[in-house]
Amino acid sequence: MTESTSSQPVLIDKFGRRVEYVRLSVTDRCDFRCVYCMSEEMEFLPREQVLSLEEIYNLAKSFTDLGVNKLRLTGGEPLVRKGVLGLIEKMGQLPAELLITTNGSQLPKMAKDLKRFGVDRLNISLDSLQRDKFQRLTRSDRLHQVLAGIDAACEAGFNGIKLNAVVLKGRNDDEVVDLVEFARDREIDITFIEEMPLGAITEHDRAESYCSSDEILEMLNQEYDLLSSTEKTGGPSKYYRMSDSRSKIGFISPHSHNFCGECNRVRVTVEGRLLLCLGNEHSMDLREVMRSHPGDNELLKQKLIESMDLKPERHYFDLEAEPQIVRFMNMTGG
Ligand code: SAM
Ligand code: SF4
Repeated sequence: MTESTSSQPVLIDKFGRRVEYVRLSVTDRCDFRCVYCMSEEMEFLPREQVLSLEEIYNLAKSFTDLGVNKLRLTGGEPLVRKGVLGLIEKMGQLPAELLITTNGSQLPKMAKDLKRFGVDRLNISLDSLQRDKFQRLTRSDRLHQVLAGIDAACEAGFNGIKLNAVVLKGRNDDEVVDLVEFARDREIDITFIEEMPLGAITEHDRAESYCSSDEILEMLNQEYDLLSSTEKTGGPSKYYRMSDSRSKIGFISPHSHNFCGECNRVRVTVEGRLLLCLGNEHSMDLREVMRSHPGDNELLKQKLIESMDLKPERHYFDLEAEPQIVRFMNMTGG
C-alpha cells in the first residue's frame, strides 16, 4: 500500500504502519566470531551472491525516494568490506540519517572519515571490558583495538554513540554495572540486548544462557536511580535515564513482541533479500529485480511499494524450539 502525502509516494503496510527505517547488511563477513552470532567455522557467501556496493547504493537511494529517513549499515562487520568508505561517502549525501552498527575494530583508523562522510551516529558492540571474557565471547583478542576505536569515535564528534552489549548468563552478566560506568564516563549511551535465537549455534544452550532485560534492570536498579523514559523508537528498545548522567540505558527485548504494532523498519540481507520482519521469513528478492533490470530504479521502487503487503503483523520467538529462524544474525543484518 502507498500513500501520497505530497507528490512523493511513501511505504505503508497493510496494518497502516509507515516504513521509514531500513537496515542494510553490507557483508556477511566479519573479523570476529561472536558466540551468539556465528559458529567458529563459518562459510561465507561467494562474491557473486552478495550485492555490489553499487546495488546497495541504488537500494538506499530508492528507499529514500520513498520517504525512508533513516538508513543503517550493518552486517557482518560493515567496516571490513573493501570499498565501504566510498559507499558511505555517497550515502552520506542522501536525505536520510546515516547510522552504522560496528564491532569497533576498524574505528581507530576509520572514525574520522566516517564522521567526515556524513555518518550521524554509531552503535558499537562491546560485551565485556575484560580481555579473557571478551576473547571468549568474540573469539578474538582485540579488546584493546575496540576500546581505542570507541575513543576515536568519541573524539570524532558523532551526534550519538551507543554501546550494544548482548548479555549471557554466566558469561558477562556480572559486568553490566561496569559497562554502564564505562558509558557514563564517556557520556555515551548503552543498550543491553537479549540474545535472539537466530541461526543454529551449538556452542551454548540459549535457554540456559538467556538473561532477561528484567534481570539486568534489577541489577542496575540497585546501583542507579533509573527514570523510565517515554522515548519511542518504533523498535524493541525501552530507555531509562539516570538523574546524574547524560547517558541513557536501553534494553532490547525481542522476546516481548509488544513493539510490533509500532514497527517502522525493514531489513535487506547481504544477498538482497528484503526481510519484512526480523522474526519471520516473509521476504522479497530485490537482487533478482536489480539484476534482471539493471539501472531500472523505477521498477525497483514499484517492487518496494508492493513488498509492503508482505509485512506480517508480528513475530514470535521461542527459545525452547530453536532454531525457528535458520538465518544467522550476520546474514540478517542485526
Ligand atoms: N558486526 C557489527 C556488530 O557486531 O556490531 C554489526 C552486525 S551485528 C550482527 C549487530 C548486533 O547484533 C550486534 O550488537 C550484536 O551483538 C547483535 N547480535 C548478533 N547476534 C545476536 C543474537 N543472536 N541475539 C542478539 N543480538 C545479536
Ligand atoms: Fe561479527 Fe558483529 Fe556477529 Fe560479532 S556480532 S560475529 S562482530 S557480525
